[in-house]
Amino acid sequence: MAYFDNNSTTKPLAEVLVAMQNASAKNWANPSSPHRSGCHVRALIERAREEIAQTLNVEPKQLTFTSGATESNNAVLSYIAKSQDGGCGNILLSSIEHPSILETAQFHFSEKIRTVRINSDGVVQIEELIELMDQEVPGLVALMAVHNETGVVQPWQEVAQVCRDRGVWFHCDATQWIGKLDPAGLNSCSSFSFSAHKFGGPKGVGVLVSNEPVSWVKGGGQESETRGGTENFPGIEGMRVAWMHHCSTGYSFDLAESWRDAFEERMNHQFTHLKIIGGKAKRLWNTSLLCLPEFNNLEWVSRLDRLGHVVSNGSACSTARDQPSTLSGAIGLNASESRRLVRISASQATTEEDWQSLG
Ligand code: PMP
Repeated sequence: MAYFDNNSTTKPLAEVLVAMQNASAKNWANPSSPHRSGCHVRALIERAREEIAQTLNVEPKQLTFTSGATESNNAVLSYIAKSQDGGCGNILLSSIEHPSILETAQFHFSEKIRTVRINSDGVVQIEELIELMDQEVPGLVALMAVHNETGVVQPWQEVAQVCRDRGVWFHCDATQWIGKLDPAGLNSCSSFSFSAHKFGGPKGVGVLVSNEPVSWVKGGGQESETRGGTENFPGIEGMRVAWMHHCSTGYSFDLAESWRDAFEERMNHQFTHLKIIGGKAKRLWNTSLLCLPEFNNLEWVSRLDRLGHVVSNGSACSTARDQPSTLSGAIGLNASESRRLVRISASQATTEEDWQSLG
């Protein structure tokens, strides 16, 4: 089977499964308990925090372990809403943020949200963003590092700089960046979020990195009073192992990108009216979002599945609701084109032969 749905989730690494099994079987004590077993688990959690923080060039105390990027994104928006006295400030978002940003923003800020458009290649229009910031200083700017469906890289480094110059909080949803591109520079954001299951780690665990402590889940005082609840040590340990493995593999993806490009070239020869979404923009090396000339995307997904190729019809979060994601409208696709989108997303384990067998 060739698995091409890695932007949705990745296969857990074998060493992650072993680490989680050991963590569950041997280190199951409550890390808040004062006895030796509890203190041992506490020390292991702090080791994970220190090791991950070091690779991201941030202080360990800036890391909060969460249940994943959805929670981390919720935490930041809720904190900003609260710290701005009931959400009186406005916030600035790109129109294609993940639902964990868009819907949470809607909940807390409703009419105080201003959105920045993207161009037809799926890139946020930075000039418009700066113009909107100059019109009225926002309480927060949120921009994802990479879009989950298109793989298009957003100008988050420039936005981080603009926000820093104006003293505005910049939150970056780095869920699709972490595990695929070099994390250097993310420490220039006021806060950023990611999930372990995007890089061979377990589901239901992730990180919020923040310059300020973002208090979110009340009760219990865990995570330095920011997130109450008994820590998910097996998840945290699984994430540590996956992340340290990932960091040891380096960030050279030119070859992998050339396999994706060659696949798209073959597709272009095969289908006359094929659209490659974001094809002209800077994209992740692993993603290809195709608007195929015929057949509904679910038909493509099930046909390819039967042939042993696992692809997706778009992002898993919009599929769960059977609705097109916000992306389709934002880049100007009509309803019929939205139904013909097929997303292919590779991992570091994907081979040239896998790409060739797909098409
Ligand atoms: N942000 C982005 C850009 C994502 O792709 C995802 C996962 N699809 C999330 C946030 C949410 O991640 P999780 O479901 O692990 O909380």
